[in-house]
Amino acid sequence: MFQKILIANRGEIALRVLRACKELGIQTVVVHSTADADAMHVRLADESVCIGPPPSRDSYLNIHQIVAACEITGADAVHPGYGFLSENAKFADILAAHNITFIGPSGDHIRIMGDKIEAKRTAKHLGIPVVPGSDGAVTEEKEARRIAGEIGYPVIIKASAGGGGRGMKVARSEADLVVALQTARSEAGAAFGDDAVYIEKYLEKPRHIEVQVFGDGAGRGVHFGERDCSLQRRHQKVWEEAPSPALNAEERAHIGGVCARAIADLGYSGAGTIEFLYENGEFYFIEMNTRLQVEHPVTEAITGIDLVHEQIRVASGGGLSMRQEEIRFQGHAIECRINAEDPRTFTPSPGTITHFHTPGGLGIRVDSGVYSGYKIPPYYDSLIGKLIVHGRNRVECMMRLRRALDEFVVDGIKTTLPLFRDLVGNADIANGEYDIHWLEKYLADKD
Ligand code: ADP
Repeated sequence: MFQKILIANRGEIALRVLRACKELGIQTVVVHSTADADAMHVRLADESVCIGPPPSRDSYLNIHQIVAACEITGADAVHPGYGFLSENAKFADILAAHNITFIGPSGDHIRIMGDKIEAKRTAKHLGIPVVPGSDGAVTEEKEARRIAGEIGYPVIIKASAGGGGRGMKVARSEADLVVALQTARSEAGAAFGDDAVYIEKYLEKPRHIEVQVFGDGAGRGVHFGERDCSLQRRHQKVWEEAPSPALNAEERAHIGGVCARAIADLGYSGAGTIEFLYENGEFYFIEMNTRLQVEHPVTEAITGIDLVHEQIRVASGGGLSMRQEEIRFQGHAIECRINAEDPRTFTPSPGTITHFHTPGGLGIRVDSGVYSGYKIPPYYDSLIGKLIVHGRNRVECMMRLRRALDEFVVDGIKTTLPLFRDLVGNADIANGEYDIHWLEKYLADKD
């Protein structure tokens, strides 16, 4: 087992990982920018190293500084959290070259899944159902027309190097297609330095359903069920739940089994998430994230398994701690992402939190890195905490969520808490009847 883990992140996830390390009796080092000297994870860590000024590229993305911090403190492993360097294959390779363990998959697996065309090809090869579309990159107008004609309109053009919901264009007819192809290519080139784009069938009313998987790197793979993350704004997840209100037990076992086998065959190591769009009973792979996800606590709630413990165990060579049949699902969980944003316009609202009071009681978990008197710096993303609620079934979970939202107090800044108080009283949400466009429509109608 590791003696000392360096946590290369900030905010709630840095604290989340720190807690797991403490429970396992592992020493912790955190790195931070000058803007985060007062952050909770810095206060609670055994050691901390300031690695640079506020901008991420000079601190949380500065590989040399982070490797230097490992060497100075003698850390033998790095947990990257999510975002920042968590899906940076070069970072994983550099750590390996320094004999420091990256708590995550190999650089090669990160590379394959980071290139969407390559990821889709690999998924298909592993027997995972994919969205019908082009086999690889498309550059010629004529070819684009042929493929779109075959799969049928509407189609979506996506950047191979895209991420965070950027670099996508929908074409509803052949007339749209030519313009969409050109704009998608030039935008992808400008935004990602890679103008490779591909075409797939555009699904009109899908849900976003993702499967949590784990591999031991030696041919074993398990799944931890699915999460439904269909409630999104600008392709950013807002509310996540497990299990999905849309799946039956048979569908769940089927897609879980497909994913677990794929992970085993790939020889994948650590945590991963295989994301699908789901429509009319069919699953369509869109991408795989090779890291811990923001929404992992809903899976922890219904399985009772600490996924960060499991990541650390697998990375240290201890293998998976359980077999598939030992993973049991209990009840229902919902996560609300609480952002420091105006709940109507979604503009960031940094500043000082004058009062912070979190709800408690059975089935309530709050993962947050903030406290009363904490000043939110304006440099990073606006997530300040996550409320995760667990109940014996979805009805109980929703009742408990409503109560927890009423208890939650964040004064001094604006947050998205009022949005969740509205959602929890909505009939479609209560019935679990929503697709990936539902939230945007709801917000537009409210205005
Ligand atoms: P990113 O890496 O940028 O998040 P994804 O491939 O995961 O890109 O897609 C992000 C979102 O875009 C999906 O959650 C979905 O809302 C939409 N999307 C992607 N592909 C399709 C498709 N074929 N049909 C309809 N919507 C899609």
